[in-house]
Amino acid sequence: MDWKEIRLLSKFALFRKIDVFCGDVAPNFSSMCEHMFEKFGAADSQKGNFNKQMEFRKKSIKGALTHLFFPALCIQCTEPIFDQRTLLCHSCIGTLIPLDPETRCLICSAQLIDETRVCEACRERRALLRRIVAPFAYTGAPKELLDQFLSGRSSLKTILASYMVLQWLNLDLPFPDAIVPVAESRFITFRRGFSHSQLLAEEVAHLLERPVLTLLGRRIGDFPQRRRSFEQRKKLSTQNFFWKEPRDLSGQTILLVDDLMGSCATLRACAEKLIEGFPERIYGLTFCIEELW
Ligand SMILES: [Zn+2]
Ligand SMILES: [Zn+2]
Repeated sequence: MDWKEIRLLSKFALFRKIDVFCGDVAPNFSSMCEHMFEKFGAADSQKGNFNKQMEFRKKSIKGALTHLFFPALCIQCTEPIFDQRTLLCHSCIGTLIPLDPETRCLICSAQLIDETRVCEACRERRALLRRIVAPFAYTGAPKELLDQFLSGRSSLKTILASYMVLQWLNLDLPFPDAIVPVAESRFITFRRGFSHSQLLAEEVAHLLERPVLTLLGRRIGDFPQRRRSFEQRKKLSTQNFFWKEPRDLSGQTILLVDDLMGSCATLRACAEKLIEGFPERIYGLTFCIEELW
């Protein structure tokens, strides 16, 4: 293992502690963290442990040398980072401000362009999901974090899921009974080495203390949405998905999890499939929302 890997590993270990990451540099999320800790009654003992770990790290000569000879660079602006706890510099972390729900469609979280609370697309189509929530737009620092995750840094799953859950809790939506990842085809998962939506769903489920149900599969030969045109995306149908294990979901609140939402065609197609199990309601949660204009 070389120095670079050691540095990355220690960084990821620290990334797991969302309370510190959010800290004083992202005040909005800091208060939301408190809200979450209260909700789960976790907090103080965890924080204590973490402070001890930090003291240990500060004393670590190896860490100091790594820092001296291999200063980390911010993944967004490439400025050197002197606080090794993050992948982003101080000013880029400051840009991780959650989307204001007031300016977003009440159903799909798209940016609203007029006075209405529901966007034009949602007014015209059947409401398959009650609401789709995302903490960030796909731009700037959040885009960099997501791109790093999508290109193989699977250990970023915790921080991405943390932001997703915080935004979810911030909106005071009903607690889901189960978390369902959006299905990716086996070919895609094989090529990437892991399923992004599955990893995020597991992390979200862990934070919310709810089970993950991998209910849906996706047909082989179905390409990822990012490679498609907007028109192609909209045509994605429920035919592309199948039940891995049919299940009675009656009375349940289901939370569908994905990494990035573009046209919401994937989430909608999955929701349409899940409706066959008669859930009470379906929500969606992604890390970023792609603005399509
Ligand atoms: Zn930066
Ligand atoms: Zn909408």
